[in-house]
Amino acid sequence: MVNIVLVSHSSLLAAGIVDMMRMVMQQSQVSIAVAAGADDSSQTLGTDAAKIRDAIEDVYSDDGVLVLMDLGSAVLSAEMALDFLAEEKRNRVRLCAAPLVEGAIAAAIQASLGASLDRVAAEAEGALSGKIESLSQRAGTDAAVPPPSSASPVATDVQQVRLVVENRLGLHARPAALFVQTAGRFQSDIRVARAHDSRQVNAKSFNAVAALGIRQYDEIVVSATGADAAEALAALQRLAAEKFGEADDVADEPQPLPSPRSTDTPPGALRGIAASPGYALGQAVVLRNVEPQIERLAIDDPAAEMSRFSVALEAVRSKTRQVRDQIAQHHPYEAAIFDAYLMFLSDPDVLSRVQQIVERERVNVEWAWQQAVRESVQAFESLDNDYMRARAVDIRDVGLQVLTQLLGHTAVTHVDQSGIVVVDDLSPSDTARLDPANVLGICTERGSSTSHSAILARTLGIPAVVGVGPAVAQVRPETPLIIDGFAGLVWIDPDESITADYAAKLAQWRTTYERAQRSSAAPSVTKDGIGIEVAANIGNLEDARAALANGADGVGLLRTEFLFLDRATAPDEDEQFEVYHAIARLMDQRPVVIRTLDVGGDKPLLYLHMAREENPFLGQRAIRLCLERPDLFKPQLRAILRAAAGHRIRIMVPMIADIGEWRRARSILDETIAELRNRGVPIPDHVDVGMMVEVPSAALLAHIFAPEVDFFSIGSNDLTQYTLAAERGNASVAYLQDGLHPAVLIQIRQVVQSAEAAGKWVSVCGELAADRQALPILVGLGVKKLSMSPGSIPQAKELVRQLTLRDVQQWANQALTLESAKAVRHFIRRQLATIGEYEG
Ligand code: PEP
Ligand code: MG
Repeated sequence: MVNIVLVSHSSLLAAGIVDMMRMVMQQSQVSIAVAAGADDSSQTLGTDAAKIRDAIEDVYSDDGVLVLMDLGSAVLSAEMALDFLAEEKRNRVRLCAAPLVEGAIAAAIQASLGASLDRVAAEAEGALSGKIESLSQRAGTDAAVPPPSSASPVATDVQQVRLVVENRLGLHARPAALFVQTAGRFQSDIRVARAHDSRQVNAKSFNAVAALGIRQYDEIVVSATGADAAEALAALQRLAAEKFGEADDVADEPQPLPSPRSTDTPPGALRGIAASPGYALGQAVVLRNVEPQIERLAIDDPAAEMSRFSVALEAVRSKTRQVRDQIAQHHPYEAAIFDAYLMFLSDPDVLSRVQQIVERERVNVEWAWQQAVRESVQAFESLDNDYMRARAVDIRDVGLQVLTQLLGHTAVTHVDQSGIVVVDDLSPSDTARLDPANVLGICTERGSSTSHSAILARTLGIPAVVGVGPAVAQVRPETPLIIDGFAGLVWIDPDESITADYAAKLAQWRTTYERAQRSSAAPSVTKDGIGIEVAANIGNLEDARAALANGADGVGLLRTEFLFLDRATAPDEDEQFEVYHAIARLMDQRPVVIRTLDVGGDKPLLYLHMAREENPFLGQRAIRLCLERPDLFKPQLRAILRAAAGHRIRIMVPMIADIGEWRRARSILDETIAELRNRGVPIPDHVDVGMMVEVPSAALLAHIFAPEVDFFSIGSNDLTQYTLAAERGNASVAYLQDGLHPAVLIQIRQVVQSAEAAGKWVSVCGELAADRQALPILVGLGVKKLSMSPGSIPQAKELVRQLTLRDVQQWANQALTLESAKAVRHFIRRQLATIGEYEG
């Protein structure tokens, strides 16, 4: 691979160009190094030969290094840098006369195609031609711009396809790059032209393709000659169908950061980042995060200091677990934020750094901890990735909690009056503690849409605008405010007309929400009369109340592990019975599916002294543990069976991967039933017993399980994790964690078909069930029961009422043929629009 060095007077400029290069290169292996600024901190404008030499060394490759420079002394410094290099390396380094921005983009694309140094340099040098040509056409001149070097006459033995470019901005940088990269994967000679224009250009040249200036709805003709011409054209056709990778930019990726100086900010409003949708009108409740002033104190006894530290750490760990479990009841994915906190609180490097400071410098642990946290924060803040930079906030948050604990202070956030919380930045743990009943909205000075507090605000349904800037610091308590969490706008002390306008918007938003809410108790039936049961996922009795309030048709998943977490011993049979019975009684004659214990994985139970596992998600989790521990499993089964007397309780076994596990679980259940009957304990004559499908082996062999189970419930969270080998909650592989991946959908179809053949029913109880884009596909695949967080039920039922089975069956069939979750989402979005449904 040819690698690239950018030499610029300004580190900011270079960083911006690198961002653009990454955008067009996608996952490419090309390395980019930057030599920018005149001093070590890169703050002073200028260039430095030694830095350039280092940058070249950093990305040196025998295939070559292309060096692009901005102006003036940059060229001189780059030439000097070459003199510092060993001769054999110098010969493989090319200083390129291309304009920095255009050249860098063209070079990045060409290099990512594996082109030679000559080719990459030529592309970069020709990079201005597109711009010159299009500007001269606009000016009506006939500027003498040479056609791109790759233009050629039409070949005769060619295959052709015609494509319409639907992208809003036409074939602009990113889609054009994907087009060129896709073409570049094939041997055939591929040319592209505008329809009705005989001038063809090389489809493997970014400059040439960009120079065509393709706009939205322009038709292009792609011609290919060569052995793999048909495959190449098919790939380009697919790419066009997926809008050249921009199909779902808006919904799948974080919203672009609105500029604080955006000209479309209405007068009087402040613009921030739309972090959580919704409107809020109310008075400011101003919170101030005051970082405690820590003094550096000399100490005599480092061991005593460290033991104080251990106690504080353990206390914070325990509180963090509580917050995590509380969030996990409804939002297991978001709860993983707090697993990252726990990791930081046990990070061996951080802890040994604290110990080192305490012992070497003989200073108080508060001081040492603050130093260690600052170092970690700085390390994250210096990364060139927004998402990772936002993690610095999390570390500061954990750091502050430990300090607060060490100092015996109390937490900052307790909001006991109704209003809009105004704060410089809100930590995830503070956000999790906010009571949505009091907190109408959130407005922060700093923050980003990928910060965990933003994610949690969405989770809690609190409208939020973050990153509004310094004006927020001026807001006084009780000042009237408006938050527009859709547009990312904040009004401080708005005038009457704005207030009236937003009061109307808020009322309308509530009406839509309440309409779904009002009809939530009614059955959800498709337009052509197919009833879909929408049940609730719950973790305790309080959730069961929320389920009823939201119109749940039953409980589709009771996660019993929440009874077992955060305590010193397991709940005994009677305690469990009380809970199961209370829930069943509350749900009256509605079905209640109780899942047997699903601990292990990300939910370890300390009092079980489970062995440490390298990969807990692949270890002794759920039924695997229960089969080993009848002392846990049997009391739970007894409690469920007893609670089932007089109620519609069903038993569900999680994480079944093999028929042997199912049969062992079933035989322990039969044994327990026999024991209870012998003792004369009242239990029903029959209890439905089903299994979760969370492991691909279970989905693939659903036809083997089907005759032996009463039902299947698809745990799409785990099924996706295990199908895509992407740990749930691990943000770095979040791009893979989409249950609409055809690989998951194909398994769901397999389960439905096997169940239907055996006369059994199928439910989906993972997050997918509540996803507006997934729900129609699941119904189309034949799933008749869904289970989700109580809050999602009204909207889900309302959506079902807009669907027609015949349509969604067609959509589902089509979705199964697509190549990625992204393609499925793109497709379903279009279908939802045809029935007037918003995309979700
Ligand atoms: C699932 O895996 O989809 C599921 C519902 O189970 P849990 O999220 O509790 O693992
Ligand atoms: Mg699961």
